[in-house]
Amino acid sequence: MRLPLPSVLGEPLQAAFRLLLPLRCLVCSERGHDTLDLCPACLAELPWAGRACLRCALPLPDEALPICGTCRDEPPAQTATHASLLYLPPVDQLLVRYKFHQDLAAGRLLAQLMLRNPPPWSCAPLVPVPLHRKRLRQRGYDQAAELCRLLQLPTWRGLYRRRHTAPQSERSAEQRRDNLFDAFDVRGTVPARLTIVDDVMTTGSTVLEIAETLRLVGAGEVRAWVCARVP
Ligand SMILES: [Zn+2]
Ligand SMILES: [Zn+2]
Repeated sequence: MRLPLPSVLGEPLQAAFRLLLPLRCLVCSERGHDTLDLCPACLAELPWAGRACLRCALPLPDEALPICGTCRDEPPAQTATHASLLYLPPVDQLLVRYKFHQDLAAGRLLAQLMLRNPPPWSCAPLVPVPLHRKRLRQRGYDQAAELCRLLQLPTWRGLYRRRHTAPQSERSAEQRRDNLFDAFDVRGTVPARLTIVDDVMTTGSTVLEIAETLRLVGAGEVRAWVCARVP
């Protein structure tokens, strides 16, 4: 794993330093290629998301309808969800390194990969899935907000968490929704159209809860763009 550049340098200086460093594959340590910290062999093996439900990004077989059965029966509040990648090796390890080990080089690579497979619709402004202040203090940085910054697209920062929620892992879809009920609120005027950004989408309960919140306070159209979808 490459040592992080000192954050005291500030982003412009860090970018200048990066130009001086050789690109290095974050998966196998071979030479990186084409502005990516990823070698051509690892790039060719990446689990890009293929055909998927237009509403929730659940992977679907080629011959299936464009909307999954769950979204047909009960359409979610978001009108579309796009996943750039699937949560499979090596993307899962890169996301864990980024999220839990402050590996910002992995975050930068994941944002670059998201931009190589962007949604087919115009997505600005983005709205990152917010962390609660308590979680932010524990972790030191906010992974979805940082992804938005790395994507360099206009971002709306009016969404926040009203309360601290228990971690979502190890919970069923229904428990996840109960856990998140009323967890989010907004400050200021909500843009008419927004795209929620998150690193990983598992059952979709976080995106759904946020989309419902944003619709309730006046957003006309809410979509979602996630780095990786759990298949
Ligand atoms: Zn490699
Ligand atoms: Zn669906």
